[in-house]
This record gives sequence, C-alpha cells and structure tokens, in this order.
Amino acid sequence: MLRVITASLLFSFGLLASPVVLAEHHNLTIDEELEQKVIAWRRDIHQHPELSNREFRTSALVAEHLRGLGIEVQTEIAHTGVVGMLQGGKPGPLIALRADMDALPVTEQTDVPFRSTVIGEYRGNEVGVMHACGHDLHVAMLMGAAEYLAQHREQIAGTVMFIFQPAEEGAPPGEEGGAELMLKEGLFAEHKPDAVFGIHVWGQAPVGTIGYRKGPLMASSDRFEIRVKGRQTHGSAPWAGVDPIVAAAQIINNVQTIVSRQINITKAPAVVSFGIVEGGVRNNIIPDEVYLEGTIRNFDMDIRQQIFRQLTQAAEASAHVTGATAEVTIDEGYPVTINSPELVAKMLPTTQRVAGETMVHESPLVTGAEDFSFYALEVPGMFVFLGVTPEGQDPAKAPANHSPFFYADESALRIGTELFINWVFDYPEAG
Ligand SMILES: [Zn+2]
Ligand SMILES: [Zn+2]
Repeated sequence: MLRVITASLLFSFGLLASPVVLAEHHNLTIDEELEQKVIAWRRDIHQHPELSNREFRTSALVAEHLRGLGIEVQTEIAHTGVVGMLQGGKPGPLIALRADMDALPVTEQTDVPFRSTVIGEYRGNEVGVMHACGHDLHVAMLMGAAEYLAQHREQIAGTVMFIFQPAEEGAPPGEEGGAELMLKEGLFAEHKPDAVFGIHVWGQAPVGTIGYRKGPLMASSDRFEIRVKGRQTHGSAPWAGVDPIVAAAQIINNVQTIVSRQINITKAPAVVSFGIVEGGVRNNIIPDEVYLEGTIRNFDMDIRQQIFRQLTQAAEASAHVTGATAEVTIDEGYPVTINSPELVAKMLPTTQRVAGETMVHESPLVTGAEDFSFYALEVPGMFVFLGVTPEGQDPAKAPANHSPFFYADESALRIGTELFINWVFDYPEAG
C-alpha cells in the first residue's frame, strides 16, 4: 500500500523549495484479535503434530480455514498438500507464500501446557511426535496472513498463492513427498509465481530477529552409500582373502582429500562426513563386506556435481589398490537453497520496516538443508530465518531446532505473519 504524504509541513517551514510528494510504503499490522487466533492455531497444531506425508488433520484445518475466507483451495497435492489462490482486486504479479506442515519423530520434553504427547510410527518403531522444527509456527503464521489478505483482497495488486507443504523433513522410506513432489504434480505448471517467500523459525536467534542472505543460504544435502566388497577369510591368514576393512579405511582417508585438496574453497565451502561404518562379526574373521554411509553438503551446484564424481572415483580407486571393489550410490536429497539476490535486495527495506532495522542481519551460511530450494530453483525465492529465543536467554545455549526441548517465543508469530502480509503488498511496487 502506498501512503502519499505531501511535504507541506516542511514547505511551510521553508525547508524545501517546493512542495514534493513523498511516496513510502507503510507498515501493515495485524490486530490483537488476529494475533490471538494465530497463537491459538499454533498451540493446537503443536499439540497435534503429524509426521511427514501424514499431515491429515493439519491440512484439513488449513483447507477449512482457507475455504472459510473465500480462497480457492486445492487439496491432496503431494499427498496432504493444500494450495490456496487469492485473487486481488487489482491486476499484478503472482506471489507465492510457503509454509511446511510436518513434525518430527522426537519425544517432546518441554513443559509448555500444550506440549505433544502424540505417539506415531516411524520406520516401524513407535516414536513420540513433536513440532521440534517449528513448522507449527509456519502454518499458523501463513493462516494468519491468509486471513488478513483475504479481508483486504480489494487492495492487493495481483494474486497470492498459499502453499501449505507436506514432508519438508523428508518422506518416509519408499515414498515421495515435499516440495519436489508438489512441483512434480504441477504446482508451478499452470501458474508460475513471480516470487516465492518462506520463513523458518530459528531456535538459536533472539526473538524477532531476521536472518537473510543473498545467494546461497542453506546447503544441499545428499546421502551416499559405499559397499566395499572383499573376500572373507581367517583373520590369521589375510593373504587368503581380500580385506574390505583395510579398503574401507583407505576410502575414508582418501575421501577426506576431496574437500581439503580438490575443491576450490574460495568458491564455496563443502562437507563430506561418514556417519555409518559397518562390517565384521568376530575378531578373527576378515569379513566379506563393509558398508559405509555418509552425507555431502554444498553451497554450489557445480561443486556438488564435482564431489559426486570425485567421491565415486576415490572410493573405487582406493578399493582397487587393495584388491577389493567399491560400489557407490548417491541418493540426491535437497539442492542448495539459493535466494535471488535481486529479490532479497528489493524486499529488504520491507523486511527491515516490519521487523525493525536493528533486528535484521545477514545470516551466515547454514549447512542444514531445506526443500524450499526446489521452489527457489524454479522462480526467484527469498527464505529468511526468524529468531524465537526468548528475551533474557542466551541464543547460543538455547535448544536448537530438532531438540526435544525446542521452544519458540510466540511473540515471533506476529512478526512472521506481518512479514508475509507486507511482502505481498510491497512486492508489486518495490524498486
Ligand atoms: Zn527441520
Ligand atoms: Zn524445518
């Protein structure tokens, strides 16, 4: 919205030579009633968390809310996804706002009155289920923004697409899900947004602070498996077989030289970590096989491909030297989350105005991954972090996202909701 004020006052004091018109956007805020609703939705969703691809109750709640606001709703996208389309009163761009809906297999250990006691099933095990990543806040903030925007639709220039996405934390084994599946099912096929915005609450940043970054923000995340095959024999006579344990040791060491010796570290950092080393049953048996598994993190899509090639090469060649073989499988996960530098530059003034200039900081790179990355590879994207550490607590010592003690100060909900709203109103006009 534009607020046009004439500078007649300044003129009358003789500060300006002639009357000018100052155009500036003004801050749209939610009222106390809507803030209380957002808090109530958040608590309700927090108390009823659902695992990835099982967000049935949450998506029903969202769909009902959007329909009640007169927003056109599509459901069951990528299993439980909900998409709302709100036509503004004036022509303009298509702006997408995204919230993820899933919880984690974590047993909540906070003492909030609305803590989760839900038990779910994950990989065949009974597990506690908790919104330990704060997606409950994301859903509530976007529901609040939808309510405000629907009530002010006549003033909106353009169309708003509300994306309530399942399975950000990853679909269960054997299933597809999340942003990738929503896009595969044609989310952007018919209506391609001009920009997509997302917010993630952050357990270790002071409440109300915003972390933004132009270009890469979060890493790609890819899983690798290496099966090292030897030939089983007696531990007393290694020459009678092929030792996959020694081969695996060489692989682990040589893979470390990819990041330290082969990657141009002036371009972007990278990480290769082993998380599983499995092999052998008894001290005096050289086993047939050793299994290795790990993760690769990158901030550059070309370096990512380079590491895939060099990891495969390092594993195969290291095994070959010892007479063993190595089979490498790379399971591609989420790409690098890359914010559009132009979009961030354009929307930074709005972000600073909503959160307060001193509350907005450039975020360091984060080696965690987000499937918001899939949207941001298709259209210009802006993904920011919203701090939720309560005042008076050291953010560095606060429980991180995914902790059973993860706690979010609810005063952040207002800021997140108002960010979504103001981005929508300012985007068409912003320089
Ligand atoms: Zn998470
Ligand atoms: Zn998350």
